[in-house]
Amino acid sequence: EVPAFNTLAVDCRAAPDAALLPRVPGLDDALFRSDGTMTKQEVRAATVAKLMPMRGALLWDIGTGCGSVAIEWMRAAHYARAIGIEPRADRRAMAAENALALGAPRLELRDGTAPGELEFLPAPDAVFIGGGLSEEVFTASWRALRPLGRLVANAVTLESEALLLALHKAHGGQLSKISVHRAEPVGGLTGWRPLMPVTQWSLVK
Ligand code: SAH
Repeated sequence: EVPAFNTLAVDCRAAPDAALLPRVPGLDDALFRSDGTMTKQEVRAATVAKLMPMRGALLWDIGTGCGSVAIEWMRAAHYARAIGIEPRADRRAMAAENALALGAPRLELRDGTAPGELEFLPAPDAVFIGGGLSEEVFTASWRALRPLGRLVANAVTLESEALLLALHKAHGGQLSKISVHRAEPVGGLTGWRPLMPVTQWSLVK
């Protein structure tokens, strides 16, 4: 007989560090060690959904930072693989630590920058551009993507948003703006604190 899930959850309260770590993205931001430059939970969930994790599929995570998107991609499907490209050693170290802690120890981290580093990598099933966005990075990624491959690019600056608008006009796909507000204390009351809005461009090859 399969035990009721609620029974398990109630029993776990006895363990102070017990946490629910679903395979479906977005994990709590607090589970990742980061310096703040990290895609936040709600946006990360939407991002990984558009990347469509599948069994054995390979993700290029360009500008991987602390690895949050690559790690959620790897957790979401069996044998999902990811290569994170990140020029900053301190962030690669956080990504490696997060990958070990969150069950994605095979995350491969590359010291380098896009587009230069991309030509050495095996062809991906999905590409996430979370840093270093440029027309050249898009062109190199799009060329390398396998048939039915997915590309998602997120922008928080006006400059990169302007580039996404131009790319959307030229190549189609879906352009979305995701705004998240979280309730936080304001004095003794509660107010909405906005996170930086993210412009997201996604398309399927
Ligand atoms: N993708 C991360 C966020 C990282 S912030 C997440 O979703 O949590 C963006 C990162 O892109 C920074 O760490 C920066 O060092 C990196 N970056 C900037 N230009 C780059 C380039 N040309 N190639 C690869 N990484 C780059």
